[in-house]
This record gives sequence, C-alpha cells and structure tokens, in this order.
Amino acid sequence: QCIAVCPTGALTSNSSVSEVWAAIRDPRKTVVCQIAPAPRTALGEEFGLGSVDVTGKIVSALRKIGFDRVFDTVFAADMTTIEESNEFLDRLAKGEKLPIFTSCCPGWVKYAEQFHPELLDNISTCRSPQQMFGSVLKKKYCQELGIKPEDMFVVSIMPCTAKKYEAKRPEFTTAGSYDVDAVLTTVEAAQMFREAGIIFEQLPESDFDEPMQQATGSGVLFGATGGVMESVVRYVTGKLLKTEGRIDIEFVRGMADTKIATLNVGDNKLTLAVVNGLAAAEALIEKIKSGELEVHAVEVMACPGGCVGGGGQPFQNDSAARSARAKEIYNIDTRMVLHKAQDNQDLNKIFEKYWGGCCNHDTHHDLHTHYHPRKRITGNDILIKDTAGPEIT
Ligand code: SF4
Repeated sequence: QCIAVCPTGALTSNSSVSEVWAAIRDPRKTVVCQIAPAPRTALGEEFGLGSVDVTGKIVSALRKIGFDRVFDTVFAADMTTIEESNEFLDRLAKGEKLPIFTSCCPGWVKYAEQFHPELLDNISTCRSPQQMFGSVLKKKYCQELGIKPEDMFVVSIMPCTAKKYEAKRPEFTTAGSYDVDAVLTTVEAAQMFREAGIIFEQLPESDFDEPMQQATGSGVLFGATGGVMESVVRYVTGKLLKTEGRIDIEFVRGMADTKIATLNVGDNKLTLAVVNGLAAAEALIEKIKSGELEVHAVEVMACPGGCVGGGGQPFQNDSAARSARAKEIYNIDTRMVLHKAQDNQDLNKIFEKYWGGCCNHDTHHDLHTHYHPRKRITGNDILIKDTAGPEIT
C-alpha cells in the first residue's frame, strides 16, 4: 500500500527508534515531542483499545520515557490554517495563482515537484504543521529557553513515512540544525512504549505543555481527508461573516476519493475540491488544465482517507479502521471547546510575541517555504538506503 500512495522516496521506512532513545539518554539534549492529529485515534489500536482518542495517554507515556516537553501539532495546524487562509484570501483578491493547492502533505508536494512543476506556483507556500512547529521550536522557543538549536532534539509522532523525508529537506533547518530531528511513525511510538515496559492502557491522561497548549477542533480535522479545507472554510467564514461556534462542512467529509462543491461565503462564490490518493489528484488536475473544471482551492492528501490512512499507522490496509479513526477525529472536534483557528488564544499570543502578529514578512520567513522542480525517478534511479534520510533525486 505504501508504494501505491507514497511517491516521496520514503518507500522503505527507516526506523528512528534508536536515534530517539539516544537523544533521550543524552544529558546535553532538551528533547521535545510533537504529536500529529492522526496518530491519536490509531495508536490505541496497538494496545487493544480500538480507534479511540488516546491523546492524554500518549502525553503521559512520552513524559514517562523521558521527553522534556510535549506539544500538540494541532497547535501548529491552527497556525497553518491562519497563514494559509490569508494566503488564499490574498490570492482571491488579486485573482492570481488560483486554484491554491494545499501543501501539508509531503507525498503530494514531492509528486507535484516531479510530475507537475507547472503547478508549483499554485501550491500554498505554507510549511506543513510538522515543519511550522519545528521552525517555531528551533528559531524562537530555543532562544526563550536560552539553548542552542543543536542542543534541542525535536521529535514528531506522525502517521506517515513521507514525513521522515520532509524533515530532511535541506530548507527546513536553523543554524545548521534540522528543525525536526527525528520522525517516529505511530507504530514506532508504540514500539518505544513497549520497549520501556509501559502498560499503555492503564496510563492516566496528561495535558500538553504550555505556552503552546491550546488547540482547536479545526486543527484536529487535519487528520482526515477534507480536514484542511474544512479548517480554511471555518476560518474564512469566521473572518468574513463573523460566524461563531462550530460550522460543519459536510461535503468535504467521508472516504470518496474526490469531493467538489460550491459554497457562498459572503460575496464570494467558492468552488472547492478535496482529493485523496494521487490517482484522484491526477484526474482532477487534468480536468482543471483542460478547462472542464474551474475551482478556487484544492486539498490533496496522498493517502487513502488522508492521514488516518498513512503508511506509518497500524493496520494500513484496513479500510474499516481508517473510517473509525476519521469518525473519532470528528468526535474529538465535537468535544473540544474551540472550533476555529483564530479562537486559539495561545496561538494569537505566540504570533504577537514572536513575529508581532500573523501573516507578515517575518512569519513568511519562518513559516513558509518554496518548491523545486525535480527530475522524475525511473526504476534505475530508486535508491534504497539504510540511513536516516531517503535519498532525494
Ligand atoms: Fe503523510 Fe498524511 Fe500525506 Fe499520507 S496524507 S503522505 S500520512 S501527510
């Protein structure tokens, strides 16, 4: 399954477990973890708990095995929503670089770099939530703690083997240190808990660390196909129409590989498309290029069902498990207090403290990126390496 959906070169997942144990044991390192949305509804499957939300237990387990700080990638997903939504609104106002394509799936980004270099200007310049958080930690939070970037070891727990490749992209560094030093898949995180002798199912729940603690249901939605689009729509309607509370955008939900709808948002009539799986992305791109379809924004996720179906999750081929995880993602959103990225007060404070606000020149420097056309990989070019990062050709 991984080979079918993962064109990133990260086809064989190199385990990061020993590297992370070494960092935890190194007294010079401040070891920090961030947890993506999708693993929280899948990791419990490894311990017989089913596809339920085990976020609080993961935080407890990470503290027990020696992490100094534990943060939620959902915080950075809210950050992504704010930066990306404003980029979208800006392009709409100028009528340029449309449709905007989402950028948080490294499988999709690398596919576009190889097979659709003509679309690279259309892809949002926002870094993915993993890389935004890495950048915040190494460029800003380190300074606050009074430590050098190389003395902080940042680990992410991701649903995804492609995130290992993304973390090793040369543009995602600070003073020569990777913004994200190691990526554990959901399965690898469970392996570490077992190796530490943790009885996961009996753990109490713990909260994430301050000062980047608050998160919204909108950011959790990033774990399922359609979640980024739903978060953007919630942000845009909140900003333009002053809507309060939770707005559910039903058309983006569910496991269909292509979902398209037109929404009226104030004076704007927006046609939005959501695809999961690169075959569906390819078919949609063809329709856009031929003029058969006119859209304003496209969310692309390489894996079936989005990140809940990532190559680093347990039981990768179980479509029922993917659906159950997605259902729990929506349950989490329902249970949370906040549902729009702009309502995240910790995030608003961080934007103000680190960059004097959001969506400006300085956030662009630290939280955005650029893309490179890449040559296509042929059979003879594929390198299978037994090292930390996959070879980029
Ligand atoms: Fe990774 Fe999610 Fe993209 Fe799959 S859809 S490659 S899990 S980011």
